[in-house]
Order: sequence, then C-alpha cells, then structure tokens
Amino acid sequence: METNGLRQRSPTSKNYGSTNGNVVITEAGRAADKRLDQHETFEFGGPWGVAAIITGFPVLMYYLWICLWFYDGKLVYPTSVDDIQPFLLKMWGHIQKDASPNLYAWEVYSGFFFFQLFIAWVLPGFKQEGLPVPSLGYKTLMYNCNALQCWYTTIVVSFVLHWTGVFRLTQIIDNYGHLMTVGMIYGFGVSFITYFHAVATKTTIRMSGNFVYDFFMGAALNPRLGPVDLKMWAEVRIPWVIVFYLAVSGACKQYDTLGYVTPNMLFMCLATGLYINACAKGEECIPQTWDMYHEKWGFMVIFWNFAGVPFSYVYSVVYMASHDPSAYRFSTLGYVVIYTTLLTAYYIWDTSMAQKSHFKMQTQGVLNFRRTFPQLPWHTVENPTFIQTAHGNRLLTSGWWRYSRKPNYVADFTMSFTWGAIIGTATFIPYFYPVFFITVLVHRCSRDFERCAIKYGKDWERYCEVVKYKFIPGIY
Ligand code: NDP
Repeated sequence: METNGLRQRSPTSKNYGSTNGNVVITEAGRAADKRLDQHETFEFGGPWGVAAIITGFPVLMYYLWICLWFYDGKLVYPTSVDDIQPFLLKMWGHIQKDASPNLYAWEVYSGFFFFQLFIAWVLPGFKQEGLPVPSLGYKTLMYNCNALQCWYTTIVVSFVLHWTGVFRLTQIIDNYGHLMTVGMIYGFGVSFITYFHAVATKTTIRMSGNFVYDFFMGAALNPRLGPVDLKMWAEVRIPWVIVFYLAVSGACKQYDTLGYVTPNMLFMCLATGLYINACAKGEECIPQTWDMYHEKWGFMVIFWNFAGVPFSYVYSVVYMASHDPSAYRFSTLGYVVIYTTLLTAYYIWDTSMAQKSHFKMQTQGVLNFRRTFPQLPWHTVENPTFIQTAHGNRLLTSGWWRYSRKPNYVADFTMSFTWGAIIGTATFIPYFYPVFFITVLVHRCSRDFERCAIKYGKDWERYCEVVKYKFIPGIY
C-alpha cells in the first residue's frame, strides 16, 4: 500500500505497526524515539552560534577564494589599523568584479540545477524503502534511487556539450567566483522558501521556537517535490557533481594551456569521480543514514550542499588550474603513496558504509542487494554479530564495525586529507577541507553518540565496551 511516497505496512503482515522487518520497536524504544523528536537542547552554540555560522561562512569562502585567486594562495590581512578600510575595500572590489552574480553564472548554475531536478524527477530508479520514521507513526518512505542514471546521463550530456563547443567545460573553473555567489544565493533562497513552506503547511518537527536557530537546523524532516526527496537529491546530485566538474574543468584548462594534464589534477578527477560515483551507486544506502532520518532540511544542509561543499572542498583544483605545475610536482614515490592512500581509504569508506546499510536492510528483511559498478569485496558481512538493544534495533559489531565506532569517518577524513595534500606545501588553503571536515566529523560524532546514548541507554554502553574505540583502533 503506498500513498504519497509513504508506505504503510500491509495490515495482514505480522510486521504491521511496530516492527521493522524482524526488528520489533519496543515501547521503551518508542518513548526514546519520541523524546528524540522533541527539541531539548541547542546545538552549534545555540542561536548566536548558528548566526555566526550563517554570516561567517560566506565571508570565509570569499576570503579563501580571494587569497587563492589573487594572492598566490597566501593569506592576506591588514597590517595596521589604518590599513583595515583599504583592505576591506580591496576585498570588496575583487568580489564585485570577479564574483558578481552575473547572467552567465545564473544561466550555468540554474541550468545545471534544474536539469538535475528534471532528470531526478523523470528517470526511473531503484526503489528503496527507508527506515521506519517515528514521527510518521513508523511508516516508511519509498525512495526513487536514480542518482546513477542521472550521473551517467550528466556525463553523456556534458561530453556532448563540450565536444560540440556549445558549453566548454573549461569555462567552469574560469567563472568560479561568479558561480560560487550564485550557489550561495540559491543556498539562502531555498532555505527561506522551504522554511516558510514547512511552517505554512504545518510540517515542522523538533522546533525550538527561535527563528534563527530553526532556520539553520530546518523545519521539515522529509520534504519532497513530486517524487524527488529534496534532502537526498541535494546531498548527491548537486555538491559532488559540481566538485567533479570543477576538477574536470581544471583538467581541460591544463590541457588547453599546457598541452597535458598533471598527475595531480588527474588525481582530483579520480578522487571526486570516485566520491560522486560512490554516492550514486550506493544511493539506496543513504536512506539508512541519520542525514535522512534525523537531520532536518534547513540552512545547514541546504547551503552546505548548494555552495559550501562545491566551492570550498576543491581549492587544490583552483590553485592547480592557475599555477605552473613546478609549484606542486611530486616524485614518483610521492604519487604512488598518495594514489595508494586514496584508493585504500576509498575501499574502507565504501565497504564500511555498505556493511552497515546492508546489515540494516537485512534487519528489515531485505536479502538481495542492488548491484552497481564497482562492487567491492566485503560489502556485506556474512553472519554478522550484533548487539540486540532493548529499543529493538541492532548494533553491528563485525566487519569494519568491530574495529571502531566510526570507521567510515576515518576513511572519509583520510580521503579529504589527500584532496589537500595533492598540492603539497605550495599553499595551505586546500587543507581547509580536511581541517574543516575533521571539526565537522568530531562534532557530528559527539551529536550522534549523544543521540544513540538516549536512544539505546545501557545497550549503548554495552556496545561501547565491545567496540572500544571511536575512530582509530588502539589510539582513540
Ligand atoms: P553513520 O553512517 O556512522 O551513521 C550513524 C548512525 O548509524 C547512528 O546514529 C546509528 O543510528 C547507526 N549506527 C551507528 N553504529 C551502528 C552500528 N554499529 N550498527 C548499526 N547501526 C549503527 O554516520 P553518518 O550518517 O553521519 O555519515 C554517513 C557518511 O557520510 C560518512 O561516511 C560521513 O563521513 C559522510 N559525510 C560526509 C560529509 C562531507 O561533507 N564530506 C558530511 C557528513 C557526512 P540508529 O541506530 O539510530 O539507526
């Protein structure tokens, strides 16, 4: 039985109502879930903290871009009090000239944005049932996972546009500043529109009553546009596709200007390509992540996907596209080390995420998993060990999950580090991504563990005794 993407378990099924495959959500579990759906404490430093993030991040993004683009990757700053005003005017001048939201950027970003929305809407996909949503009375949502079809379609269309000269991919990196500004405007605009829509339609959840904080955290949990789940769409179809095309654009630019593409730029094409491909090929695992069933659709998620990730994660590409390769050339051994590190981290990230998602799907009764390219060995743990919680859910204690409580974070962070390290010491600005990301992951991890402690109580403590380390076994 399906209504508006919601699936109600068949009343004839013995799983009807309070069960999740062969996992039964107990009364205690329901009480904990209910508590987690109420606003209890302010996160991110409360209203003042989120106000600082909302205003500070765009400023930081402009600042780092200006340093990279105009000052050879060096951090510039006023050297005296008298210098502050001229310095700020100079910064503003750069933004006005090279990061204005011009017609070209509107056309390119909007064209890309609505093309992604259109193909997500119309292309067929793999149907994946999400986890039971407590706030929907434990109904599950169906997800049309067509990111892979959309990703392949995008590759073909972009290749044709480039080849025919209708839209040369080289232009993307040349218009970085302009596109970044339009991405930010989309981030703010969509956040406002969807916030007020949720309030007007009374689809809000976990509201604090403070406008700034609720705008940042979001109002709705599972907003949809037709068949498109906005959160999942925004997470996969916009940021990682843009970072991939920035890398490809940088490679095209090097080819045009140097006559060849450096191994460093190829590395970024590979790294970003692997990331978007992983998100697309394993899209059916995303409904099992807490981004989908817990995080709301607010400024934090929207701005970060429309502007933050695309325009602050691949500073190394921006630098390489405008600097001579001698500034960041590695020895052969250096290339072997960095490529091997990336591929190893990717393997652990991909398979650890798959192991947990497949385990959760198994507990929902799904035994046959989707097969997409590339299928890596050990994506599913045979005869997994787990802790049965009083809540009803199970916590996996085998596969990568026997070594640490966040093996996926360790691997993801390692990949992010290589995205900066590929530039060596030519400039430190590309290390913004790993530095920022480790902060996000540590904070996210503490939020997640607090949530799990409430949800699972003593069972969580038992789990932490079995899986002792948070990140790296033997160390932390
Ligand atoms: P996890 O995939 O670790 O999911 C956490 C949730 O999984 C917990 O709340 C719990 O939920 C469940 N869980 C935890 N341990 C177990 C276990 N042993 N067995 C079964 N269930 C368990 O984290 P995220 O969803 O935060 O992240 C997903 C990926 O996204 C990560 O790889 C992360 O690096 C990446 N990411 C990337 C970002 C970027 O900007 N590059 C930003 C944010 C995330 P419950 O029990 O309630 O089901």
